[in-house]
Amino acid sequence: MVTPPTPKDQFSGIWVVVERTQTGTLAEATFEALTAARQLAAEQGNTPITAVLLLGDGDTPDPYQADLAAHGATAVLALTSANLATYSGQGYTQALTQAIAAKKPALILAGATSTSKDYAPRLALAAPLALMPDATQLTMGSSGQVEVTRPVYAENMLTIVTAPDVRPQMVTLRAKAFRKGEAPAAGASVTTETMAVDVAAPTLQLVGISASEAASSGKSLADAEIVVAGGRGVKGPENFPLVEALAQSLGAAVGASRAVVDAGWRPHSEQVGQTGKTVSPNLYIALGIHGAIQHQVGMTSSRHIVAVNTNPDAPIFEIADFGIVGDLFEIAPLLTKTIKDKNLTPA
Ligand SMILES: Cc1cc2nc3c(=O)[nH]c(=O)nc-3n(C[C@H](O)[C@H](O)[C@H](O)COP(=O)(O)OP(=O)(O)OC[C@H]3O[C@@H](n4cnc5c(N)ncnc54)[C@H](O)[C@@H]3O)c2cc1C
Repeated sequence: MVTPPTPKDQFSGIWVVVERTQTGTLAEATFEALTAARQLAAEQGNTPITAVLLLGDGDTPDPYQADLAAHGATAVLALTSANLATYSGQGYTQALTQAIAAKKPALILAGATSTSKDYAPRLALAAPLALMPDATQLTMGSSGQVEVTRPVYAENMLTIVTAPDVRPQMVTLRAKAFRKGEAPAAGASVTTETMAVDVAAPTLQLVGISASEAASSGKSLADAEIVVAGGRGVKGPENFPLVEALAQSLGAAVGASRAVVDAGWRPHSEQVGQTGKTVSPNLYIALGIHGAIQHQVGMTSSRHIVAVNTNPDAPIFEIADFGIVGDLFEIAPLLTKTIKDKNLTPA
């Protein structure tokens, strides 16, 4: 017998699934999801926002509560199980499915991270819920129905999707599309509830993580506020220290075009574009990058784009806010020197 769906009006409130970094601090994606939640809650008339933490037995939400409250959470729901001590897609799916059945949130937000890409599709089937991934804009429509804008077809089109008949709705948010706000309510408090959940030991277990990206560039490309990227115009791996020096002077991460990665000059972890990473830093500096559409899709949402290229007709100039038609071998060292001489390295 098919169980009839729970009526929509029995679901209420906004959840933010909290993500933490490997060092245990709150991930940037969590703050960005709280920014989006605050915007939607205000549009709906101050809907409660619950931050959902998944914790191992004996772990407590205490270290996170003040930060979550300051960024807009009105409640914290801690889901606990011995099998949540380390992340697994199966564990998150089981824990969240039980919590959703018990609490019936209308909307669940999370960062569009590799973690949510792992558990959210499983959760969509298990809960069940309507998953709308990779949003760049959100609007709260009537009766709590969210309108989700998401780029498709290599960013060439924007679609607006909604889930009129299914609750909960779940939306994952593209990195940097919603910026972490200043703590708008420092000193605010939250109510906290702990719920023990029944989570089986995962069939696949995480037994180790290696920091290949950090080892290669020192900074995480996806989270960086500034990216300095080099293309085939850099002419060879022996010249990449020019790119690295400028990146270092700005406290930036190093990126690369696919041509450079395919040539073996840089690791794939640095590739920006359709078959690499999507980045949305405050500042993206493209050195000797032509600006092919497959590269653009990975960086076009950067807040400010600066391009250095000898070819005035290079497509990168069509999306650059500031373009320098010139030789990167002259411009990059000059920029690095000026930043150092004038002490312009961001704090
Ligand atoms: C399915 C598919 C997926 C792809 N995915 C990606 C992707 O994820 N990321 C990606 O980047 N590409 C991707 N590509 C490849 C993409 O189409 C381009 O081939 C690639 O981005 C070109 O890299 P480039 O701009 O470094 O090299 P080039 O196209 O060779 O451009 C080099 C640029 O450097 C300039 N230049 C040369 N000398 C100097 C100098 N001294 N100073 C300043 N400028 C100089 C030139 O004017 C030129 O504009 C993909 C392609 C396909 C088909």
